[in-house]
Amino acid sequence: MTARIEAVRGDITAERADAIVNAANSSLLGGGGVDGAIHAAAGPRLLEECRRVRRTAYPQGLPVGYAVATGAGELPCRWVIHTVGPNWNRGQRDEADLAACFANSLREAARVGARSVAFPAVSAGVYGWAGATVARVAVTTVRAAPELEELDLVRFVLFSDRLLADFEQALARH
Ligand code: ADP
Repeated sequence: MTARIEAVRGDITAERADAIVNAANSSLLGGGGVDGAIHAAAGPRLLEECRRVRRTAYPQGLPVGYAVATGAGELPCRWVIHTVGPNWNRGQRDEADLAACFANSLREAARVGARSVAFPAVSAGVYGWAGATVARVAVTTVRAAPELEELDLVRFVLFSDRLLADFEQALARH
């Protein structure tokens, strides 16, 4: 069996998927956008876990394209997978870095035993990538991921109708 892949409009903090992906920054200590919303809904335990990841695994911060799982605090999911998208506005414009966010998040999801994963549009907010580009890279990367065999569902949770349309188009085309 391979996972179903779908796109919906919604707030990822309300997702009941086993794991939700956070478009974090490399400090892992919180930020704006979806990162701020996830930390606000998860409560202080998530920040504490992120601090521990910084102390132990990534003292210099999580590099662009990497992904790391923590617990989820008060969120309805079990794990939060933090990934750092490339920042277009700072000249990080290599699609391979963005693809790595999706591929490494799925690898991390399978490693912890998640069967369902929800993604936001990583890098399509403050980091400035075009929604259609993020959608194409996300869909092609997820479709090619070997971990799909170990998952039931991959859901893209988009915060606007515009982004939802970008992802629906990418799902239809790729
Ligand atoms: P980045 O810094 O990687 O661009 P942002 O958080 O600024 O990350 O934006 C990534 C995407 O997440 C944007 O499309 C933004 O609209 C969206 N977003 C913000 N809050 C939420 C939320 N609660 N659920 C789902 N998506 C969200």
